[in-house]
Amino acid sequence: MLDVALQSLNIPIAKFEVATNLKQAERFAKRLGFPVVLKAVSAKVVHKTEAGGVVIARDAAEARSAAARLLKLGKVLVQEHSSGVEMFLGIKRDPSFGHVLLAGVGGIFVEVYKDVSFRVCPISRKDAESMLAELKGSRLLEGVRGQKPVNRKALLDSMVELSKLPDKMPDIEELDVNPLFANDKEVLAVDARIVLSRK
Ligand code: ADP
Ligand code: MG
Repeated sequence: MLDVALQSLNIPIAKFEVATNLKQAERFAKRLGFPVVLKAVSAKVVHKTEAGGVVIARDAAEARSAAARLLKLGKVLVQEHSSGVEMFLGIKRDPSFGHVLLAGVGGIFVEVYKDVSFRVCPISRKDAESMLAELKGSRLLEGVRGQKPVNRKALLDSMVELSKLPDKMPDIEELDVNPLFANDKEVLAVDARIVLSRK
């Protein structure tokens, strides 16, 4: 799997800059403000969490030491910190249906929860609504434990937008946006991977 350029997905993404040296990483971290997230960008590191390649730095000193370590693996992506419900959006090519959009509760435990619904691409807003309604975790979106309900419109818009992607990129085999943070203000994608079919 390749890390995909988040910009090409047409959904809101967390601000980021890619640093190739320590000075740059420090400057980018300061510019984005703390807490800030640093991630290893390296062909060798696909599952970044498992490789210790994702660090949430609370201040400049933490950012500096994380950057110094991650730079040994390659470049460092310095990213705006987000929060909220971690959702998963994806696309898969199904042998009989063609491209389908997947939506579920995401984060690093997505394989554990297996809470995912799907529809053939492209989807309507109504499809998007019913996909969310089908999720076991749908209550998370309504606000639990004192959290405000998520910006549902932003989430639905992202689902509908993403489902249009296979029309523009027919060679998508598999795409994962995980997580997409959903909170009361907005949704923000912070990580994505894509597999394209070989021609
Ligand atoms: P990978 O999937 O390669 O392990 P991710 O970029 O998805 O790496 O990060 C793993 C986890 O780290 C996410 O599920 C999330 O909990 C946390 N995380 C990543 N980026 C951010 C961010 N910008 N703000 C807050 N938490 C983040
Ligand atoms: Mg991820």
